[in-house]
Amino acid sequence: MENKEERPLNFIEKIIEDDLKAGRVPNDTIVTRFPPEPNGYLHIGHIKSICINFGLAEKYNGICHLRLDDTNPEKEDQEYIDSIKSDIHWLGFDWGKHEYYASDYYDQLYQIALKLIKEGKAYVDSLSAEQMKEYRGTLTEPGKDSPDRNRPIEENLDLFERMKNGEFPEGTYTLRAKIDMKSPNINMRDPALYRIKYADHPRTGKKWCIYPMYDFTHPISDAIEGITHSICTLEFEDHRPAYDWATSIDGIDHTPHQYEFARLNINYLLMSKRKLLYLVKNNLVSGWDDPRMPTVSGIRRRGYSPEAMKDFVSRVGVAKVEGVVDYSLMEFCVREDLNKRAKRLMAVLDPVKLIIDNYPEGKIEYFEAENNPEDPEAGTHKVAFTRELYIEREDFMENPVKGYHRLYIGNEVRLKHAYYVTATSVEKDTEGNITAIHATYDPESKGGTTPDGRKVKGTSHWVSASECISAEVRQYDKLFKAENPGAATGNYLDDLNPDSLIIIRDAKIEKEAATAKPGDYLQFIRNGYYMADSRDSSPEHLVFNRTVTLKDSWSKMKQKMGL
Ligand code: ATP
Ligand code: MG
Repeated sequence: MENKEERPLNFIEKIIEDDLKAGRVPNDTIVTRFPPEPNGYLHIGHIKSICINFGLAEKYNGICHLRLDDTNPEKEDQEYIDSIKSDIHWLGFDWGKHEYYASDYYDQLYQIALKLIKEGKAYVDSLSAEQMKEYRGTLTEPGKDSPDRNRPIEENLDLFERMKNGEFPEGTYTLRAKIDMKSPNINMRDPALYRIKYADHPRTGKKWCIYPMYDFTHPISDAIEGITHSICTLEFEDHRPAYDWATSIDGIDHTPHQYEFARLNINYLLMSKRKLLYLVKNNLVSGWDDPRMPTVSGIRRRGYSPEAMKDFVSRVGVAKVEGVVDYSLMEFCVREDLNKRAKRLMAVLDPVKLIIDNYPEGKIEYFEAENNPEDPEAGTHKVAFTRELYIEREDFMENPVKGYHRLYIGNEVRLKHAYYVTATSVEKDTEGNITAIHATYDPESKGGTTPDGRKVKGTSHWVSASECISAEVRQYDKLFKAENPGAATGNYLDDLNPDSLIIIRDAKIEKEAATAKPGDYLQFIRNGYYMADSRDSSPEHLVFNRTVTLKDSWSKMKQKMGL
């Protein structure tokens, strides 16, 4: 486990430092970019890419661009663009004026394509998609030249012009680079540069009916923007020759370099946008920002902090080997951070009445409760104590098992911040369920200590029955119950966790909770970390999301592994 300050340089930082030392970086300013495709919301994997790209720019006084890679018009949407920008800001990064769109470069890309045709380096192909696949060959067999490969330049120019003018249906023609059908790298076997697509583009509208392909658009966009270090995930390693081909087209005067790192995988989570979209479209979750979703907007709403997520990706590190990170490490980082910042409140999620018989009826006392024992500066707030309280049902046992130190008849426990109480009797309904517990308190034990210094083993949290608020509490758990969703049956939907959301309709919480806004980090003592729900919580109907439980399975696992 590495500490941010002392960790050794990762391989990308080494490359950057070498490049800077050797004077290979124009203006000594590194330029990176985060290039999301606006076809879905950002997920936790993207956080890693964002932290690398924006983090490097911060560290080396460089610049990081936000580039929306918008070359698939039919899958893209303004809603996605807005959410991407909001999520990056939430993480604490800013691209300033450097907001770009691949579609900004359509005219330039078109001119470059024309030039390639004129130089005999690109041709219009009429092979169908299936035929093209056939001609492409396989990893072990070379491809075959398309019959159109030697189409005369004039004819290519004419066809490309007509493609652009919308004279042909989709799928009839493509523009391809003339590279090498026998290349050992399939991506170099005359890759497609343009395809026909009749779709409204969120930014260019109906202007184009031909759209440039990723392997053509991305490197040239990088070159146009003066990107120095183009950092992407390992699956693009095989595309690097195509990247280098595109950036060395005559007339492109800046040469960016591509470097690949291992993507972030976390067990129990699915981070493919296609699968996440499926969950949304089929109402298996309440939306992209459902607190169970591994999206940035989901974890935001659930109550994760940006600091925790940055700490998490920094602990994971930047490497060239793919692996699967344990979900519990992420939760560990969330707890570590929230422990430092969350305001402590008392909430009773499964309430049972506790009546203090010797406490005056109608009396209200206020106790000072510290907001955060980890942070003396966080101050205190007042919590009301009355004769009738609520405690957790599990904090009382009629027939205590051995080792049970909480409340049972004859036993004395501490009520946090308040008094020592001893249970005396219970009331039950006709079915034998306990409806109220009676107790007496020791007036001398105010604040939780007694003059005779006697100790009690159990401490319970509580709220005043008359001076509390009712709230809905959403107990979230993992969306998938399998470590590798879909591995067993081939269908990830089979592994959806039916208990990923348990709703408590009438939790009792101290009044202070009513002041909590979405974005305020809370701990309900002994129950977990919580946050007011940004969509559904209102003063009339408070809703709190469980961010994470208090139980730390990561430390236990580390112990077991002897780390
Ligand atoms: P998905 O698998 O969700 O469809 P994608 O790669 O298609 O992801 P993009 O919007 O193209 O999504 O990703 C933007 C950037 O984020 C790319 O540079 C991509 O390499 C990076 N990225 C995507 N997923 C991860 C991940 N799990 N870990 C690290 N980086 C990622
Ligand atoms: Mg992609």
